Amino acid sequence: MKLTCDAELQPYNSFGVAARAACLAEIHASEDLQQAVELAESRELPLLLLGGGTNVLFAGDFPGMVLLMRNRGVEIDRESGLVTVAAGENWHEFVQFCLRNGLYGLENLALIPGSAGAAPVQNIGAYGVELESFFVELELFDCADGSLRTMAREDCNFSYRDSALKQPRPQPQVVSSLTLQLPREPAPNLHYPALMEELESAANSSFCAERSGVAESPVTPQDVFEAVCRIRRRKLPDPAEIGNAGSFFKNPIISQDEFEQLSSRYDSPPSFPAKEGVKVPAGWLLDQCGYKGYEKGAAGVYERHALILVNRGGATGKELHQLAMEMQNRVQSEFGITLEPEVRIVGAH
Ligand SMILES: Cc1cc2nc3c(=O)[nH]c(=O)nc-3n(C[C@H](O)[C@H](O)[C@H](O)COP(=O)(O)OP(=O)(O)OC[C@H]3O[C@@H](n4cnc5c(N)ncnc54)[C@H](O)[C@@H]3O)c2cc1C
Repeated sequence: MKLTCDAELQPYNSFGVAARAACLAEIHASEDLQQAVELAESRELPLLLLGGGTNVLFAGDFPGMVLLMRNRGVEIDRESGLVTVAAGENWHEFVQFCLRNGLYGLENLALIPGSAGAAPVQNIGAYGVELESFFVELELFDCADGSLRTMAREDCNFSYRDSALKQPRPQPQVVSSLTLQLPREPAPNLHYPALMEELESAANSSFCAERSGVAESPVTPQDVFEAVCRIRRRKLPDPAEIGNAGSFFKNPIISQDEFEQLSSRYDSPPSFPAKEGVKVPAGWLLDQCGYKGYEKGAAGVYERHALILVNRGGATGKELHQLAMEMQNRVQSEFGITLEPEVRIVGAH
């Protein structure tokens, strides 16, 4: 186990903000985990799990031990189509690996930054697909009592960008690996309108280029993978170039009555049906408040998407957090709708 004291966290968060942790332990194996947790306990340090750091904002320092998940490995059971991936694997590389090995379904979740271990924490989702559709179980190390156990799908309480693992608890539960059941027959999910449009426009341009009159060929998982990557590269800022953590807030779910009130003020506000009401895009609400491209010093909002907070260089976590709270308050007073952060905020006082 590699242990660093008074560690700088800037390289480990995609906002690229400076923050320090009392200790940082790189976890490559289960023995490392055991050892690090015992050490933290002996020094009475709180624990924080970190994968790629693409869904956290350090609003201040973390006065405890960061466990950086770096365990690797993927195993496929060809007969059952079950695939088990270690928490420290890179999610996008895992999606590519599955496609190369004839295991389908994850192509809509391509290019989501971060680690495999964090994927069930907020039940990652994109372009009409959520992780839970393929999820079977995960291996968990409970820091409260040092026990190892298997957590089945029904105990994870998956919902929109949420799960039992995302709930705050005194001692974290560490996902060390997860197992998915992936179809071996391609069955592309094309329900998301923007994805369908992208595929249609790619099909039209290749048809024009080739000028061939051959009958339409079916869409393959590889086509979906490439289309998703193209859309994401166009729409989202690359954290390697501009610090960000993707969508900062969840899309709020409001009641039918609240949606009718909104519709009386705005002409056809965008919406999606949800289990307990109507889901309204948080980006649209923020856009109505004029936040797209907004700047407040080095903290700001991406010019192509009002839901993405960005670090334009040198912003502190505190500045980004203050901006996020300002946006939350504005949406509350303008629409009476509460925005809930999707990003985990650490070190705020
Ligand atoms: C440009 C961009 C685009 C994005 N697009 C999407 C998207 O389309 N859909 C989507 O769902 N998300 C998206 N995200 C958010 C993010 O990529 C995902 O939430 C991702 O799963 C986070 O992985 P991570 O390893 O970076 O997690 P981290 O940021 O390191 O951690 C996130 C949370 O998970 C916990 N955690 C991390 N690893 C473990 C573990 N092994 N066991 C237990 N808990 C753990 C952490 O304590 C923290 O609470 C995007 C982010 C960016 C920057």
